[in-house]
Amino acid sequence: MARILVTGGAGFVGSNLVLRLLATGHQVTVLDDLSTGFKHNVPEQARLVQADVNFAWDEPVDQIFHLACAASPEKYQKDPLQTLRTNYVGTTNMLELAKRHGASLLFSSTSEVYGDPNVSPQPETYWGNVNSFGPRSCYDEGKRVAEALCYSYAQQGVRVRIARIFNTYGPRMAPDDGRVVSNFLVQALRGLPITIYGDGSQTRSLCYVDDLVAGLLALMAAPGSNLEHPVNLGNPCEMTVKQIGELAIRLCGSPSTISYHPLPQDDPLQRCPDISRAKTWLGWQPSVTPEVGLSQTRDYFKQTLESKEAAGHKQ
Ligand code: UDP
Repeated sequence: MARILVTGGAGFVGSNLVLRLLATGHQVTVLDDLSTGFKHNVPEQARLVQADVNFAWDEPVDQIFHLACAASPEKYQKDPLQTLRTNYVGTTNMLELAKRHGASLLFSSTSEVYGDPNVSPQPETYWGNVNSFGPRSCYDEGKRVAEALCYSYAQQGVRVRIARIFNTYGPRMAPDDGRVVSNFLVQALRGLPITIYGDGSQTRSLCYVDDLVAGLLALMAAPGSNLEHPVNLGNPCEMTVKQIGELAIRLCGSPSTISYHPLPQDDPLQRCPDISRAKTWLGWQPSVTPEVGLSQTRDYFKQTLESKEAAGHKQ
C-alpha cells in the first residue's frame, strides 16, 4: 500500500483516478482548493485537504499525481494569473515535496503544449506552435514551464513522469464545465441548440476517462530513468467538432438544432495524438470508442441533471 497524494483529486480526471487508486488498496490524500472540483467527487475513503497547491504542504508521501489546474478554457481564462501560478509555484511545491521524501511525481501536462499544431498527428518530438501572448497562453505556457521544471528536478534526482493529456471526457465531468463534450451532451439532453464555435471543422480526439486513468497508472509504474520523455495519452480517433455535435444529438435522440458562434481566439484547428510511444513503452492504448464512451457520459449527465432538478423542486 503506497501513500499517494493526488492534487486536483476533487476534479474530473483526479476523482476518477482516486477511485481507481482506492480500489487497489492505496492510502490516498486529495489536495484540492475546490475552485473547479467538488467535495462530493472525493470518496469517503480518501482524505480531503482543502488547500491551494501554491501554498506549502509537507507530509511523507510515496507518489504524487500532480493534476491541480483548471483545464477548461472557460475556467482557466477566468483567472489567468492563478493558472500561471498553479503551474509554476504549485508544480515547484510538489517537486520539492517529491525531492524531500524521495517520491515519484507524475505531472499532468497537456496537448496544449503543441498549441495550434502544423503537424498531425502530434508526436512528442514535435515542439509545438504556441502563442505566448494570447488568452490561452496562461495555460499553454504554464504547462510548458511546468514541464521544464520537471526536467530540471529530474536532473537533480527526482523521479518524474509527464503525461501529455489530450481531450478527455466521461462521468464526473461538471455539466457546466464549458468544454465541448459537456456542453454538447447537456444541450442535446435539454433540447437546446448545440453551440458550435466557428464552422465546426476544427478537430479534437476524444479519450474516455477510464482509458486515460489506465494510462496514468501505467505511466507512474513504468520502469526507466528519472529523465524519461513526456508521453502522449489520448485516443487518436480524430473527429470534427461538428461530427461531435451530430453524434451528441443522435445519442440523445434529441430535437436540438445546431447554432454557430464565433471561434475563440487561438482555438487550435486540429488535434490528434500520435500514441506510438505509449504503445511501445507502456503497452497502453485506449479501448473505448466515442460511441460507447459518449453514451455512458450521456447517461451520467442525464442522471445528474435529473437529480439537480429534483433537488430544485424540493426547495
Ligand atoms: N467548442 C464548441 N462549442 C462549445 C464548446 C467547445 O464548438 O460549446 C469547440 C471549441 O471551440 C474547440 C473544441 O470544441 O474547438 C474543444 O473545446 P474545449 O473547450 O472542449 O477544449 P480545448 O480542446 O479547446 O482545450
